[in-house]
Amino acid sequence: MLITLKVLYEHHFALQLSKFDGKCAYCSLLGAETTSWHTIKRCPAMTDLGAYFNWRKRLQYETECGICYICHVPQGRDSMLHKRFNGKPEDCAYRDVIAPAVYGLICQPSLRQKAEDRFPAADLSTPAKSLDWINDKPIRGYQSNLTALFLWYAEQM
Ligand SMILES: [Zn+2]
Ligand SMILES: [Zn+2]
Repeated sequence: MLITLKVLYEHHFALQLSKFDGKCAYCSLLGAETTSWHTIKRCPAMTDLGAYFNWRKRLQYETECGICYICHVPQGRDSMLHKRFNGKPEDCAYRDVIAPAVYGLICQPSLRQKAEDRFPAADLSTPAKSLDWINDKPIRGYQSNLTALFLWYAEQM
């Protein structure tokens, strides 16, 4: 039973990630017209890259939590979601998806409000404040609060 649920979780997660295939997660979040994929460094919608990198750098995990600290994708059973973690960015199939999507969500007042309604313990009023909850113990059913936010958004796409 538990195994079945985990496999379902992984399939579900993979499906949500695949919704960002060929597009920039941050542009999608902001509703920008540019749909072609580009790295976050080349994102025309990202006006303050320094602030983004500053926020991303502060995303933290307990050790051995099963999430890639580069792209924030969980490895999943039998590496279903992510290759074995070697610390090499080339192994991250979805390198610029989860963090840019969540950052975009926080920067969008209407989405941020809906996310706070869904996750009442989260204060997403600024990227810096959001880290308190994002880096906190994950809510039930999720491996991190960052992925909880990501999945919540992607499920509505
Ligand atoms: Zn973009
Ligand atoms: Zn990775």
